[in-house]
Amino acid sequence: MTSYLLTPGPLTTSDATRRAMNRDWGSRDKDFIGLTRRLRERLCRIAEAGPAYTCVPLQGSGTFIIEAALQTLVPADGKLLVLINGAYGRRMVEIMRRAGREVDAIEVGEDETIPAARVAERLAADPAVTDVALVHCETTAGILNPLESVAEAVRRAGRRLLVDAMSSFGALPIATEALGLAAIVASSNKCLEGVPGIGFAVVDTSLLAARKGNAASLTLDLHAQWRGFEENGQWRFTPPTQVLAALGAALDQHEAEGGVAARAARYAANCRALVDGMRRLGFRTLLSDAVQAPIIVTFLVPPHPAFRFAEFYDRLHARGFVIYPGKLTKVDSFRIGCIGAIDDAVITRALDAVETVMREMGMTPGGLYNA
Ligand SMILES: *Cc1c(COP(=O)(O)O)cnc(C)c1O
Repeated sequence: MTSYLLTPGPLTTSDATRRAMNRDWGSRDKDFIGLTRRLRERLCRIAEAGPAYTCVPLQGSGTFIIEAALQTLVPADGKLLVLINGAYGRRMVEIMRRAGREVDAIEVGEDETIPAARVAERLAADPAVTDVALVHCETTAGILNPLESVAEAVRRAGRRLLVDAMSSFGALPIATEALGLAAIVASSNKCLEGVPGIGFAVVDTSLLAARKGNAASLTLDLHAQWRGFEENGQWRFTPPTQVLAALGAALDQHEAEGGVAARAARYAANCRALVDGMRRLGFRTLLSDAVQAPIIVTFLVPPHPAFRFAEFYDRLHARGFVIYPGKLTKVDSFRIGCIGAIDDAVITRALDAVETVMREMGMTPGGLYNA
């Protein structure tokens, strides 16, 4: 049975996207070289990045492109300040430590946004920091961080900002060039609605050009990967050809839908329907609506004696809806995504399934906090 994936990715994809994989490509053939070139150009456009930027795709999941970007772009004798309000920020610290690089962090709660004023203070106090890393939408809680004000603080301090836009790229506008970002990274299988297998960085070309030999890794060297594309249009190592073809089809649909603004509107409608419906059923969200990104919503595990997440999950799965466990460090929670090739009619059906499952498990809709 096919299920709807109400997760942070991989997501529900369209038939057209999956059909685009039903063909073989020669990785060094001119057709595939053209496909790669067009994808790189289109991803720069979605990132609102002009000719001063270039797009470098890389095989692997999102974490691979993050590791490649940090290793390549932060100078070996530099220092990265990571802004943390969830697991993805913590992961960037881990990447830097493993690479033996200098790293420091500002960490706030998983239900709090990054305070730009604290970033400005820290940068003024620590001249050793060369680069700053921010997660745009922290998927751990589903919170939207204030990209514009953080970018402003970093720019005023004369440092570079690297942005993990994994779970927002394509669905929330990101003015890469206007904000003066050094680089943003994202992947094929989130809001672009492609299948998993590649990540990409949209990066300031002059910065990238200055980072030859800076990465210690061969495969995760973004500079070498970029030179490969520039020299002959080809990937250095075997590319996931079908994944690229699927991403091309997914970008066609992104464009046909009306681009970032239209996708943002569809996801916002999904999110609204989800939050309203779940609250009606008696669930509570971790975040206030003001800081909730229209990507994935964290619900608190209710104090009802009959609620057990594993059973709730299995029963929803049996009805065709895959949800996601929580990832918070302090409170029990679970998550439901509102992204992918779905509309609010799918969300309404998911809410009907939640209501049915609640009754099956002995919970009264609306009565979770006063049982
Ligand atoms: C999904 C995601 C990643 C990458 O995770 P992978 O499992 O490696 O694809 C990184 N950062 C954020 C914010 C994400 O949502």
